[in-house]
Amino acid sequence: MMKFHFVTRKKRGIQILLKYFYHHQRASQLFQPLHILPKDATVKKDELISLSQKLLLDCGIVRPRGNGMYAFLPLGQRVLAKLTNIIDEEMKLIGAQKLLLPTLTSGHLWKKTGRWELTGDELIKVKDRHEKDYVISPTHEEAVVDMLAETYSLTHRNLPLRLYQISSKFRDEANPRFGLLRCKEFLMKDLYTFDKDEASAVSTYEQVSKAYDAVFQRLGVPYVKVAGDCGTIGGSFSHEYHYPAAIGQDILLICNGCGSAVNSELANNSDTTTCPLCGSVTTTTKGIEVGHTFLLGTKYSAPLNCSYQNEKGKPSLVQMGCYGIGVSRVLAAAVEALSCETGIRWPWVIAPYKVCIISPKRGSKEANAASWVNFLANTIGSIEGFHDDIIIDDRDTFTIGKRVMEAKKVGYPIIIVVGKSACELVPRFELIDITNSNVLLFSHVELLDFLRCK
Ligand SMILES: [Zn+2]
Repeated sequence: MMKFHFVTRKKRGIQILLKYFYHHQRASQLFQPLHILPKDATVKKDELISLSQKLLLDCGIVRPRGNGMYAFLPLGQRVLAKLTNIIDEEMKLIGAQKLLLPTLTSGHLWKKTGRWELTGDELIKVKDRHEKDYVISPTHEEAVVDMLAETYSLTHRNLPLRLYQISSKFRDEANPRFGLLRCKEFLMKDLYTFDKDEASAVSTYEQVSKAYDAVFQRLGVPYVKVAGDCGTIGGSFSHEYHYPAAIGQDILLICNGCGSAVNSELANNSDTTTCPLCGSVTTTTKGIEVGHTFLLGTKYSAPLNCSYQNEKGKPSLVQMGCYGIGVSRVLAAAVEALSCETGIRWPWVIAPYKVCIISPKRGSKEANAASWVNFLANTIGSIEGFHDDIIIDDRDTFTIGKRVMEAKKVGYPIIIVVGKSACELVPRFELIDITNSNVLLFSHVELLDFLRCK
């Protein structure tokens, strides 16, 4: 009799699930080239290095690949993926749809809007073999508006329409510095919105602003929202989101009276000590811009002739907004705002791994507790929100102390040590909560209970 071997879909699903649960990253296999300076090395005085740049390099999160260019190594890529996921979730809630536009945009579109000349040397222009002009896009207003104008017969029933992407953007920085904070290529989320009239464009602006607040609140880094400068993007009004940090390039004025905040570039004349709205005294803070929202009106839809068919069947220009979040910049600015010289502190929701489990040293008295390592990883991995968030530091030729120090520097929020106490009659494990430096000693059950409440 013939025998059939087949795996049912359900069984296959369980196999995949188990594989996923029980495959935890090992530090011994991780591509994480650490940047270690020789002991006698001295940093040149004129070499301005920001805290985030130093820590991200030292810990093998990113790697410089030329002036103002960075490779995101596996840990850095995990942080970007988590950021992307948070943004995607919040964009979905306001009905924004994700797409991906080409990196190159035809130069003639940028000429039509006047930005070919206006943007200056930061715009990277290239020619193809047929002498056709392109920009290596720093932003995509022209590209997305032209696509809508020429390929889609919009009617009032299609509006509002909200389209976004998360992609690499380019700028020819004259003076790249501070690592990811000022570089030539960066990861950016850009949303473009299309509405039938000004009132609904303003309502869209308010909805997107709420979604942005939700993103920044979920990240948990204190942020300041200020009235912003429209710059070369143009439009009628805008807001900026900043992480306060000493290295910040923007000076923010926060009113002690009415609480309004403004970018100093927008303050009338040079008076930066009194609030333009209520006259109270202002406090000055330096900030790193991580997000920007603009109400654009018809600034792009007019020159590129992007219109829709209104209720009366007549063509009418769409009203636009554009909204950016500097994804790679959020990563660096969060590190800049939260960390200290000794190590990175990540927002919980974007830490590269939430838990780092450190195995006993090979040949030590506690070495036979090593079998706990996988068991802990698997049981922690079965807790909601932890399955893909555990790294095992199995480099057991190193002392526990050395590996704890490294894990603290990389900033894994929870470090679990399988050490001496794991050999006791009731085995216990050291848990280091790096947000408050607490060291707790837990049994297996207590450990799981603690993590379930996280
Ligand atoms: Zn005020």
